[in-house]
Amino acid sequence: MPDLNAVVTRRIEAASGLIILRVSPEGWKLPEFKAGQFVVLGLPAGAPRVPLSDPEPPPADPARLIRRAYSIASTPLAEDELEFYVTLVRSGELTPRLFALQPGDRLWLSNKPTGMFTLGDVAPDRHVVMIATGTGLAPYMSMLRTHLASPGERRFAAIVGARHSWDIAYSAELMTMQRLSPRFTWLPTVSRPAEEPVPWGGDTGHVQELWRRGRLAERWGFRPTAANSDVLLCGAPAMIDEMTAMLVAEGFRADEKGKPGQIHAERYW
Ligand SMILES: Cc1cc2nc3c(=O)[nH]c(=O)nc-3n(C[C@H](O)[C@H](O)[C@H](O)COP(=O)(O)OP(=O)(O)OC[C@H]3O[C@@H](n4cnc5c(N)ncnc54)[C@H](O)[C@@H]3O)c2cc1C
Repeated sequence: MPDLNAVVTRRIEAASGLIILRVSPEGWKLPEFKAGQFVVLGLPAGAPRVPLSDPEPPPADPARLIRRAYSIASTPLAEDELEFYVTLVRSGELTPRLFALQPGDRLWLSNKPTGMFTLGDVAPDRHVVMIATGTGLAPYMSMLRTHLASPGERRFAAIVGARHSWDIAYSAELMTMQRLSPRFTWLPTVSRPAEEPVPWGGDTGHVQELWRRGRLAERWGFRPTAANSDVLLCGAPAMIDEMTAMLVAEGFRADEKGKPGQIHAERYW
């Protein structure tokens, strides 16, 4: 089993079943990465599971390392730790163990940030529409924290869907970004508004419906099209498939190997 080579520096319980975890390498330097990339986190099968998760029989090999990919939510400008935004899959192998971690606990962190889901291939004069479900917001936090302050006319929009308003961990930061930057539009939508304790005055339904209703075009004052915008999709595969079909019908083209389009997707499963 590889050594546990990193330590939890902060654990924020954002909502039930949602954490923000900061992790620092122990005795090695984080390599450079691009906003939007991911790394792999790992814990041994013998690590304890959080009580909220489904029980599992004792592992046959407690030393076996369970590894999964996680988008980096922090900016590459912060060099000493990485931030992750993780949802608990109660029946899952790794997340119940990640949720049991407390500051000072050790885990395995890959030293090779990977992935093509970045703004590297998007021309700087094109607008960027970021659409996510749940923790699919993580790579966009890294991109916004990194690129929103760059000079230029480019607009950014984040359209994020969750069941409840409290399931969107970064909404205070995103609202502040919107207040400070006229180039950023924040469009959250909740799918279970009847369960909000304080009436929800924002959008409801899935991100697909928000797009269909033209809510971003209303806010921007013009339509995001394949001629002026790139669309990023991150999170649940069903959302990515539905959004891709809708965008293709509007003239956008999905990335293909060796042939970049205007739709870029990161599937979480
Ligand atoms: C490139 C990449 C980046 C990723 N980044 C993140 C991230 O930033 N945050 C994050 O929470 N997850 C992220 N994931 C998903 C992550 O790798 C794990 O699949 C997830 O944490 C579940 O692991 P597990 O071992 O607990 O569940 P497993 O035992 O592996 O069970 C997998 C099942 O859990 C469900 N599932 C997986 N991911 C999610 C999710 N995010 N929300 C709801 N259900 C899910 C699906 O039904 C899937 O079939 C990413 C995946 C990829 C491929």
